[in-house]
Amino acid sequence: MKRCFEDLCGTMDRLGVPRESKWRGLIMYMRSIRDYEFLTPEQREQAQELVMEVLRKRDFSEEAFRKLLRGNEGIINDQWRAKLTEALQDTALLIKQFQDVLVHRKNDVQELGVMTLETIQSEQPLDEMVRGIQGGFQRIEGLLQNDLETIVTMGLTDDLTKLNNRRALDAFLSRAVSEAVASGNPLSMIFMDIDHFKKFNDDYGHLVGDQALVTVAAMIRSFVEFQANLNSREFFPARFGGEEFALVLPETSGEEAVALAETIRKKIENYNFLVRDADGEVLSAGIKITVSAGVAELHAGCGLCPGISSLIDAADKALYQAKKGGRNKVELYTG
Ligand code: GH3
Ligand code: MG
Ligand code: MG
Repeated sequence: MKRCFEDLCGTMDRLGVPRESKWRGLIMYMRSIRDYEFLTPEQREQAQELVMEVLRKRDFSEEAFRKLLRGNEGIINDQWRAKLTEALQDTALLIKQFQDVLVHRKNDVQELGVMTLETIQSEQPLDEMVRGIQGGFQRIEGLLQNDLETIVTMGLTDDLTKLNNRRALDAFLSRAVSEAVASGNPLSMIFMDIDHFKKFNDDYGHLVGDQALVTVAAMIRSFVEFQANLNSREFFPARFGGEEFALVLPETSGEEAVALAETIRKKIENYNFLVRDADGEVLSAGIKITVSAGVAELHAGCGLCPGISSLIDAADKALYQAKKGGRNKVELYTG
């Protein structure tokens, strides 16, 4: 590490970076960004490119300094800010749903109060009264227990497709990665994205687009259920966001995952989508949708220190290759 910094100091001398200036600290910091694992490779590359640009131009003015800081801020924080906004919106929605549940129960609790009072005033035999009141409390307890389960599920489920949401995916993936690392079993991930979905929305409208997302999600879910019955395998499907879906496949090699992704791809390609109006009447049939998929395997693709983000990243890169290769394809990440 020390040698590395000494090298950098020599290089800065050669490039005329003013000695004893704040530039030296900033450049050292920005060079070290390449070791920040929480940033994506693209972010690290962009940050390095900013420094290189300054060094190439040898412009060590105050204005260039501020520009570099702003550029760096943008690279590191924009993605984070977008995620934070998304998380806050998610949370706001959850709070609203939670409030609805509470309002609903407030009435039940009031009813329980009235019922208890009426039972006490009813002059029934004491043991009947106690049984009646106990029954009322047990009913509320059961409802609250269900509410708790509903709230937990709401926080982990995508509203539109009812698949697991991104939050649930992150939690599952984190457990699956630890298990795979501990057991040495393979772990793969499929990342799927509907082809030309913007055009699909433009052609058929956003509501029909939503129907298509629900149908694709249902096909992925039925595939997962079929695999569970066939091989007792617990694959984990999720809506990653927009028109992107993820499938985590524990104990599955990359090659096997490619074959499975290929099965889903074909299934979707051969499916005839229907467009229905608000009353459920079929307006048009035989519409085609295709998906592209990227597959990554934890051990093969991501080095010795696999992290969650590197697996998602690798699958995303493979997906990009599938898109570049003409879409309606499956590609395996090969590094
Ligand atoms: P590509 O083949 O490269 O993936 O092209 P694309 O058009 O599918 O990709 P792009 O990322 O340009 O557009 C994604 C579109 O998905 C844009 C957005 O309107 C649509 N989309 C995202 N979420 C939803 C949703 O919840 N409902 C509907 N109907 N559309 C959505
Ligand atoms: Mg997309
Ligand atoms: Mg798309």
